[in-house]
Amino acid sequence: MIGDFDLAIVGSGFGGSLMAMIAQRLGYRTALVERGRHPRFAIGESASPLAGILIEQLADRYQLPRIRPLSAYGSWQRTYPDIGCGLKRGFTYFRHERQQPYRASADRQNQLLVAASPNDELSDTHWLRSDVDDFLVREAIAAGVEYLDDTQLETLDRGGRCSVIRGRRHGAPVVIRAPLLIDASGPNGFISRAMNLPNRGFAGYPNTQALFSHFTGVERCEEIPDFAWRGPCQVRAGEPDKARPTIDDIEHTPYPLDDAALHHVFDGGWMWVLRFGNGVTSAGVAVTDEFAAELKLADGGPAWQRFLSLYPSIAAQFSAAQPTREFTWMPRLSWRVDRAADAGWAMLPSAAAFIDPLFSTGIPLTLLGIERMARILELANADVTTSAPRGSLESYGAVTLAEADHTARFIAGCYAAFPRFDQFAAYSMFYFAAASFSEMARRLGVNSRAARFLGGDRPAFAESLARLSPQLHAPDPGYASAVARSIEPLNIAGLCDPAKRNWYPVDTRDMVRGARKLGTVSFQTFSLAGEYR
Ligand SMILES: Cc1cc2nc3c(=O)[nH]c(=O)nc-3n(C[C@H](O)[C@H](O)[C@H](O)COP(=O)(O)OP(=O)(O)OC[C@H]3O[C@@H](n4cnc5c(N)ncnc54)[C@H](O)[C@@H]3O)c2cc1C
Repeated sequence: MIGDFDLAIVGSGFGGSLMAMIAQRLGYRTALVERGRHPRFAIGESASPLAGILIEQLADRYQLPRIRPLSAYGSWQRTYPDIGCGLKRGFTYFRHERQQPYRASADRQNQLLVAASPNDELSDTHWLRSDVDDFLVREAIAAGVEYLDDTQLETLDRGGRCSVIRGRRHGAPVVIRAPLLIDASGPNGFISRAMNLPNRGFAGYPNTQALFSHFTGVERCEEIPDFAWRGPCQVRAGEPDKARPTIDDIEHTPYPLDDAALHHVFDGGWMWVLRFGNGVTSAGVAVTDEFAAELKLADGGPAWQRFLSLYPSIAAQFSAAQPTREFTWMPRLSWRVDRAADAGWAMLPSAAAFIDPLFSTGIPLTLLGIERMARILELANADVTTSAPRGSLESYGAVTLAEADHTARFIAGCYAAFPRFDQFAAYSMFYFAAASFSEMARRLGVNSRAARFLGGDRPAFAESLARLSPQLHAPDPGYASAVARSIEPLNIAGLCDPAKRNWYPVDTRDMVRGARKLGTVSFQTFSLAGEYR
């Protein structure tokens, strides 16, 4: 295949396919090149409320109505029941000690529950990426994108006004010429290799590794006595202490514990447990090099068993679990290049940098990058004779890396706080404040107030996030109040409230109280939007 296009995109994960669809809608003749074939396994499954609203806004702006239902659980289930999806009502964290069963403390100091949506209909989702990516690439093809799978790219020549990528497909040569090249091939992907852009890493960030798979037979924590919450709200005077949670206990939590991104947190790392509706659960650990060495993480399955043997309540959750695929070991999780764009080329955020799955930052960062790149394409007005303006691409690249650096500072702080869960819970409020503020600002149509991820463009907020990092700041009695003061301008969700004792439901009254922080928004508008639609 030899062809001239306006835009070539390498990599057909959800990012590449969505970018290709948008470009094609904007009048760019787009080629999308993939080395593998769909459907195929991919990691990066837990979305977030910000991801949901970004999908909605991209679908509306670029007339992609068939993509819009993926923005929330209810519309997804009604429209595409066969595309694998899980319910993510919130973010659940349990703090574990070695060789000790988890026991929820009465003051809830070893757990944190933060709701992300008021009900299942509007809920966030986990994406079964094999299904989602397959669906999106088919949508891209239907939109007119030229799709080449099974293609092994070998070289990139950048000269004059065109990039030329060459490779082979089923033994035949492939040559694609385009004035603009977008790399959507993930960390250490096509451009990084072709242009020899190594992993520069993040300053002050811990070295971490991951081990993960998909499983069947993973228990719900709600079904495991260890995780039952036996605090004073549930146990009335004179009543015998409960060994197992009842449905009442579960209803008292802000949302069902397991219909969430469920995290087990321990010294040296954390574990994710994400349930899909088809009985499959994604689970994995992200740990420091030190803990990885102790577990001998490279061993795969045996390392997983060694890990479970340290934490009895997690082992109980996985007692009947069976992996449905080989374990994947990632000897280095984080990735960052020095340059994410220049004249004639750009990387999507996921090709430029990756930090850690904690707080599900990868999908929204990728979508923010797609949104920015789409605006650049809009401004270039499908002009095939010139490459997209150099200045726009350079500033796109700078913002992409600045957002990654800011996020890495935050995640590094979280790793430092894992051994001190109260500090982790307090510090996590930077994320929840920025995320809920951005989501609501976008829902109310004041996007400029939520321009950068994790409040990165708000100097005071970003400075406090860095200054109060648990890497630098030992916990003291004033720590939680210092965080509360710092997030106050973005706190529209009633966060940092000691009376809530680490359980944060979605409460529209909190949002109405926080309305003035969104500036131009009237209380009435805000109140209506508080219902989310
Ligand atoms: C362990 C782990 C867990 C994660 N969990 C989460 C999470 O829960 N939530 C979240 O928001 N983010 C998560 N992420 C991040 C998330 O995976 C990425 O943000 C997301 O996958 C980016 O999507 P993408 O389509 O841009 O790239 P990818 O999903 O990486 O897709 C890249 C595509 O490019 C193709 N490709 C690669 N090289 C070439 C080449 N040379 N030529 C042609 N094609 C190529 C690949 O085959 C693939 O199809 C996680 C990441 C990791 C590593």
